[in-house]
Amino acid sequence: MKDFDIRHLIRPHLLDMKPYSSARDEFTGKSEVYLDANENALGSVGSKDLARYPDPHQEAIKAQLAELKEVNPDQIFIGNGSDEPIDLLIRAFCTPGTHEIFILPPTFGLYEVSSNVNAVAVTKVPLTTDFQLDVPAVLAAINEQTRLVFVCNPNNPTGTRLHAEDTLTIAQQFDGLVVVDEAYIDFSSQESFVQQIADVPNIVVLQTFSKAWGLAAARVGMLYAHPKVVAILNKIKPPYNVNAMSQDVVLEALSKVAEKTAYVDELVSLRADLQAHLERLPIVHKVYDSAANFLLTRVDDPSALYHYLIEKGIIVRDRSKVQLCEGCLRITVGTAEENARLLAAMERFG
Ligand code: PMP
Repeated sequence: MKDFDIRHLIRPHLLDMKPYSSARDEFTGKSEVYLDANENALGSVGSKDLARYPDPHQEAIKAQLAELKEVNPDQIFIGNGSDEPIDLLIRAFCTPGTHEIFILPPTFGLYEVSSNVNAVAVTKVPLTTDFQLDVPAVLAAINEQTRLVFVCNPNNPTGTRLHAEDTLTIAQQFDGLVVVDEAYIDFSSQESFVQQIADVPNIVVLQTFSKAWGLAAARVGMLYAHPKVVAILNKIKPPYNVNAMSQDVVLEALSKVAEKTAYVDELVSLRADLQAHLERLPIVHKVYDSAANFLLTRVDDPSALYHYLIEKGIIVRDRSKVQLCEGCLRITVGTAEENARLLAAMERFG
């Protein structure tokens, strides 16, 4: 593992801040009588046993993920969805009014919202018209106040696979962190950046249990990074950020990786069928190739089609007002039956 000096990137007031120490932090062994955390010793109302606080460091999950991803447990942070580490990264590295993040639109909307919540400025460097990173423009715009560059790969809402060498070029020429959001990486034939974090320590990778694993309601996301990045996020996170039920569900899922692979294979095949059928519809101008579980689709009169589909009981995402996505709807790949229903409705539109 390369050494990585991040002290100058961390918000100064956090460096010497004393973090909260929970009861579960202060005694970590196994014992018989727990009178340390003010829980209800008698039990839980209306539920199986949830009286005890969960593991604040999600060690069982990290042990499984470390094996699966070939990293060390201290390179993993587990969050309440990947939404949580997005917010924590901004809070750890960006001083409001001083630092800024970069986003590369069209992209996932939460990076900007989390930045706005934290009163941190957002600089936008649009993707090229073929939805790739505009590396010269990004490098030209980066300045001393830039702390985080969010790269979404495969990109939401376009579904595009970004060229890996472009992300690497930015990481190598930038002193801050490049956050590669791989929420949809399982649906892509591309390599994950997780294997590169040992060599390129300013790359941070986000993944999630919400997409390929089918566990969006459990709210569990993961971040892979240099141990120093993980350490500062642990220092500022809410103590018990992933609840016990979600930890159990994720552990169970991790014992069934083959089921995830089967879902991915089926969704990738459904994606190809849906794309082929959409492309045959006269109202469809273009279906962008996708490495995710959705298809950005340029259509006649997107707003009218969007409302017509709602009347037919089918909800898609209207992205037609988004820069570079003019005229487009984003359609999540459904079951074979759902896709057939969508296509039948679209055939009758107009
Ligand atoms: N990143 C991207 C690119 C996403 O599209 C989403 C969800 N739509 C997320 C992160 C958030 O995922 P999670 O459910 O893990 O919070």
